[in-house]
Amino acid sequence: MADKDLEILIKTDAELSGAKAAEEQLQRDIDQARTLNAAYEELESRLKRVREAMAGLPGAAEAGNAADAKTDAVPGEIAVHEVTPSLEDADMIVRAEEAPAGTGGASLATARVVVGGGRGVGSAEGFAPLEELASLLGGVVGVSRVVTSEGWRPHTQQVGQTGTKITPDLYLACGISGAIQHIAGCSGAKHIVAINTDASAPMMARADYAVVGDLHEVLPALIEALRAR
Ligand SMILES: Cc1cc2nc3c(=O)[nH]c(=O)nc-3n(C[C@H](O)[C@H](O)[C@H](O)COP(=O)(O)OP(=O)(O)OC[C@H]3O[C@@H](n4cnc5c(N)ncnc54)[C@H](O)[C@@H]3O)c2cc1C
Repeated sequence: MADKDLEILIKTDAELSGAKAAEEQLQRDIDQARTLNAAYEELESRLKRVREAMAGLPGAAEAGNAADAKTDAVPGEIAVHEVTPSLEDADMIVRAEEAPAGTGGASLATARVVVGGGRGVGSAEGFAPLEELASLLGGVVGVSRVVTSEGWRPHTQQVGQTGTKITPDLYLACGISGAIQHIAGCSGAKHIVAINTDASAPMMARADYAVVGDLHEVLPALIEALRAR
């Protein structure tokens, strides 16, 4: 709007209403200019913060600042800056303490084979043949609550009502009596094989195949037979 447009001499109602409209339009233009200015300042400040953050990154010196990279880049190509992170132990937020061996990364909940151990295993060390068998079959070890209560294995491996629900193709239950709370976690198994010294243990009745015997004799024999194949 030119200055001459502002030389307004108001004589009539019509002119008054025209002047009012011009005033309102000017006010709207001013408001819009203020908003744009504020947005511009916010963007400038953000750009400044991003550049400051980039300057602190390892490799920033070689890579140059963001503005330089932008002008150097060929349109349609992505400018790639190699950054070598230097992380200390203190920078780690989580750390994987265990990796299931030979399972292709399967978890207890998704494993196709679970080798379960109960009180009958007898000790933490007693789980070595169960680990070996699980590894040979591409499975993982699962346990009863007694085993986690004894501190032989971590709770993450517990199968049951208060543990993990499993759905493997094969569940090999060794030295597990088959309490209802345990069955709640393994009833989704397609096939159950139980090894127990007590033929009348509930797990033996649930099993598709039941082996009456000492797991410390049966498992080594099974491992040997599998290794011989
Ligand atoms: C609220 C509640 C929630 C529970 N949640 C769970 C749960 O999520 N999961 C779970 O497992 N339990 C759970 N329990 C516990 C459950 O009731 C049983 O106590 C537990 O499952 C029994 O574990 P087990 O079969 O290893 O031991 P036991 O019942 O003591 O059975 C051991 C078996 O090993 C056999 N055996 C002994 N020596 C040998 C050997 N050398 N070779 C072969 N077999 C042998 C014995 O004949 C016996 O059958 C829960 C209980 C409660 C009250």
